[in-house]
Amino acid sequence: MLKKVLDGARGLWDGDLTLFGAPPVDEFTRGRLRAEQIGSVVRYTPAIMMANVFNALVLVVAMWDAPVANLVHLWAFCLITMCVYVYLRRRGDPGKHRPKTASPRGIRHAALYAFIIGCLWTVVPLQFFEASSYQGQLIILCLSTGMICAGAFVLSTIPSAAIAFTTPLAFGFAVTVLQMGQPVYLLVSVLTIVYAFVLTRAVATHALQLLARVVAQVESELAAQTDSLTGLPNRVAFREELNSALSRLARYGEGFAVLYIDLDDFKSVNDQLGHAAGDDLLAQSADRMRACLRDIDCVARLSGDEFAIIAAAVKEPVQAMVVAERLVRAFSSPFMVGGARITSRISIGIAIAPFDGQDAETLLKKADTALYSSKRDRRGHFQFFQSELDAQAQHRIAMEKELREAIAHRQLALAFQPFVDMRTRRVTGFEALLRWDHPTRGPICPLDFIPVAEKTGCIQEIGEFVIGEAIRTAATWPDHLRIAINFSPDQLRSMSIVPLVLGLLKDSGLQPSRLEIEITESAVVAESQQAIEILQALRGAGVRIALDDFGTGYSSLNYLRKLPLDRIKIDRAFIGDMIEHPDCTAIVKAVIGLAADLGMDVTAEGVETENQYDSLAALSCHEAQGYLLSRPVRADAVHKIIQDQALAA
Ligand code: C2E
Ligand code: CA
Ligand code: CA
Repeated sequence: MLKKVLDGARGLWDGDLTLFGAPPVDEFTRGRLRAEQIGSVVRYTPAIMMANVFNALVLVVAMWDAPVANLVHLWAFCLITMCVYVYLRRRGDPGKHRPKTASPRGIRHAALYAFIIGCLWTVVPLQFFEASSYQGQLIILCLSTGMICAGAFVLSTIPSAAIAFTTPLAFGFAVTVLQMGQPVYLLVSVLTIVYAFVLTRAVATHALQLLARVVAQVESELAAQTDSLTGLPNRVAFREELNSALSRLARYGEGFAVLYIDLDDFKSVNDQLGHAAGDDLLAQSADRMRACLRDIDCVARLSGDEFAIIAAAVKEPVQAMVVAERLVRAFSSPFMVGGARITSRISIGIAIAPFDGQDAETLLKKADTALYSSKRDRRGHFQFFQSELDAQAQHRIAMEKELREAIAHRQLALAFQPFVDMRTRRVTGFEALLRWDHPTRGPICPLDFIPVAEKTGCIQEIGEFVIGEAIRTAATWPDHLRIAINFSPDQLRSMSIVPLVLGLLKDSGLQPSRLEIEITESAVVAESQQAIEILQALRGAGVRIALDDFGTGYSSLNYLRKLPLDRIKIDRAFIGDMIEHPDCTAIVKAVIGLAADLGMDVTAEGVETENQYDSLAALSCHEAQGYLLSRPVRADAVHKIIQDQALAA
């Protein structure tokens, strides 16, 4: 019991309120409480000091003729000096921009000053009361009780200071008055002690109310700054953390690193295993990241599958590299989510303060740029910011913005390039090729903007536009003509593409067999099983599948066996070189033979000369496409080609 009281009293000295029955709180909340306690006392300090000086002067005047007048002057000098000292210290206080938390030192200082001033006031009854006239005693009585009450009131948020101030004064006064021996003095003495106890109780209640308010405030702030799924700080909290790191950098020169993190395969986990599994993966990823960091570092979830880390006290890039390596390694082992064992890797972009920037915007932008290049070049790894990336990133960001506007303002359109039957030279169909009619830069080649659309996710929206537009256009053509559409790897990630395509076919009345999807080998390599399932589903519904740019990708013949294919398109690089390089002719010949053996059709792309055409015809290639036959043309010109063909027939 005694130990508990002693511990409580020691805690009280540091601003802790357990002695009064307060619930235990964490160190952060204690710091916030101390800041509130000190803040409210500091606000009153000038007024308190002025009241002290005024009261001291009142006493000097009242005791001007008393035998102890000299002693009173000396006392008043000491008190006023102390008050001026405390006032000047308060002036050095940061005022409005006080820190949000405070150490116990400020509380101890407040209690110490309160104690010294309280002791100085105790001198008044102890030394001057007996020697005073009746009027003087009345003034001392008035001043002492006034100081006890005012002190307790003003210091009520810091109970230790309130007690340190009132206790010596109350007891000093009570003892002095008691010594006078008369019953009326006895009554005054008892009343003073009772008041002191009542005041202490009131101080404790007030301090506990303040604590409850601070606890509620900290809890609501915490809730507003926490990501509920992972329990990590959210974007708001991350920005605050970044700001404190920046002020530590400005004040102490303490460098740090910002790491932007993106889960590489999150979208496919969400699509394939469902959102609950996606959430589970995010929560587990957060745990793994946390386990890689020191206490002084901070990891936050910014949005979706985007995380960010502030690695504190980083002097050299190598220190950030160690953290990044640890993170990459932590994601090399598989996760168990939704009953499935999956691998989910992360890509990391790193910017280092002060080398890469000394303000939040610059650092975040550079970390993001580095992440982008990491995702592009080295998925599953980390990448430091390099300034030459900046120019590329600027270009990408500008293009991305314009591309989104292009979609909104319908600046995208399709061109169509015919395929020709090599034996009859008759058109068998058209390939839809995307065009961006930029209002100032003119037409932009798809090879310039499709990769940007793929990186930024716009490709889904663009892809849907192309599919819809191509199918609707082809539905107006004669029945024997097919339409070929190019698919990006990203379009083969989610099964939802299947009902989308089939729905559009149904709405437009286009026979599924008149639609051909062109995919590249890399699309299938990257997305493997999911992509194959999508292609099988489409093919099962009658849609045809062509392998585009054959010979340029991984060219593993295994894919020809694994994929549900109807056609191979030989890349134009081989056709262009056929005449001068006999080995190209040999490859083309082999591919045509292979396709025939596998029961597939073959189209040669990029046929530019009659020579090439004749050679291909001699090798029994089925179809040709290229500038020799026609450049890609707009939809209205397609009708002209169709009409000409009909007339020629
Ligand atoms: P691709 O699928 O290989 O398309 C054929 C490209 O070769 C087209 O370029 C076409 O204009 C060009 N070409 C046709 N004949 C000849 C020829 O005789 N000689 C030469 N040198 N080139 C010829 P384009 O339209 O610039 O398209 C470039 C690439 O952009 C396409 O290559 C395709 O990969 C991609 N692309 C185009 N439209 C789309 C689309 O709607 N979606 C997706 N995902 N990609 C598209
Ligand atoms: Ca193509
Ligand atoms: Ca091609």
